[in-house]
Amino acid sequence: MHVRSDAVVLFGVTGDLVSKKLFPALYELTRRDRLDVPVIGVARSPWDDQQLVTTARKSVAEANDEIDDETFDALARNLSMISGDYADPVTYQRLAERLRDAERPIFYLAIPPAVFGAVVEGLAAAGLADRGRVIVEKPFGRDLASSQELDRTLRAAFDPQRVFRIDHYLGKEAVEGLYAFRFANRLFEPLWNNQHIDNVQVTLAEGFGTQGRAGFYDTVGATRDVLQNHILQVVALIAMEPPVADDTDAFREAEAAVLRQIAPLSPESTVRGQYAGYRDEPGVRPDSNTETFVATRLTIDSPRWAGVPFHLRTGKSLPATATEVVVEFKQPQQPLIRAEGGAGASANLLRFRLGRGDGITMSIQAKSPGAEVASRPVDLSVDFGVALGHRQEAYERLLDDAMDGQHLRFAREETIQQEWRIVEPILDLPAPVQTYEKGTWGPADAEALAGGWHTPYLR
Ligand code: NDP
Repeated sequence: MHVRSDAVVLFGVTGDLVSKKLFPALYELTRRDRLDVPVIGVARSPWDDQQLVTTARKSVAEANDEIDDETFDALARNLSMISGDYADPVTYQRLAERLRDAERPIFYLAIPPAVFGAVVEGLAAAGLADRGRVIVEKPFGRDLASSQELDRTLRAAFDPQRVFRIDHYLGKEAVEGLYAFRFANRLFEPLWNNQHIDNVQVTLAEGFGTQGRAGFYDTVGATRDVLQNHILQVVALIAMEPPVADDTDAFREAEAAVLRQIAPLSPESTVRGQYAGYRDEPGVRPDSNTETFVATRLTIDSPRWAGVPFHLRTGKSLPATATEVVVEFKQPQQPLIRAEGGAGASANLLRFRLGRGDGITMSIQAKSPGAEVASRPVDLSVDFGVALGHRQEAYERLLDDAMDGQHLRFAREETIQQEWRIVEPILDLPAPVQTYEKGTWGPADAEALAGGWHTPYLR
């Protein structure tokens, strides 16, 4: 059993991620008696301990209908602040002083990727990397070369067993549910191949824009922000072979193995869009060619998936916020029953709803009422929130796991490099992005790419 981390250090504690996700996660862990260790915030901003506690309370209040004061006070007692520059060795000396009793501190790099290197080197120089764990956020680099460079920096300081690369999608219960669905249900696995599946669609739609973070977003775009990580993570779970054993290494190997079989994406099968008005947002370059939407076709060169297109799309300012995978099965081999609505109407669909109101909807064919023997689709549906009750938040689970030294829900070095290899040909394409109106499903060409998309179910 690994030693549980006995201190948490949050670099970038003044930032968006800590506010939105990490303070609520720390509060939940405190509530569940999973966290009673020093939590040290580090940032350049000249905050004192009180300001840290006030900010933490505000963000916990935003994430919860009500705050349990006893729990929050227990968390607050553990919070303290260090302000300093990441290039200044004194910052790390002060940190080392504060961590002198900690055997296995964990360092969360909630900072822009450009500063990862400086912080990792600063920790190493202060002798903190030898005994610590480190959590690194996505985006992990900007392309294959920079992610390899980042890996070298991390490896020079930290034992690989102590590096935790977060793609928070893997921490979501709904996404992990794909794995459970596939390998705990005998019903579907025999059909999970190109004999029976016609195509797969993955949609990760955001019904909002850049939410005041356009300056950051403009340097990233939809492919780096979402496709390279979250969407490929989902594809891996849908498409992976069964792991050879029920353990972390086998799971992570199966995940990397399917990514190895994915062909690099092609610019010809990719549509990039940008919503109208994006270039007028503060922080966006007036001639920006950054995509706020991308749709593409992915293929997997394996006996299981040869010939099955995976259509993927993600974008901002779309008509809704939804994350869905739709698995479309082939038509019956012998069409004995007329499908209402034409030939294509009789496909069975398995719809994994992974966002808010998550669950599964299976579209089956039922006999239409009346004299004629014809069929029409009806839904069998389950809402997991109703069926299963409360589930934990992704960041809460991921922090808990990393503190325990458990890697199951963290990406391997190779996994991230494979993801970059897959998206590399469509990064920074010179062709102008196509403009789409806010509140639509992206440029018209995206529609044609998939031969029509299944509109996400909204709950
Ligand atoms: P922010 O842009 O909010 O930055 C976090 C903090 O980093 C800031 O508060 C600032 O603190 C410090 N900072 C900013 N620029 C610099 C710089 N040039 N040098 C040193 N410090 C700097 O980032 P987020 O909190 O949004 O994200 C943190 C990390 O998590 C990033 O890697 C991001 O890609 C990733 N991420 C974020 C998500 C989110 O929802 N926000 C989701 C998934 C991943 P100060 O000036 O006080 O030092």
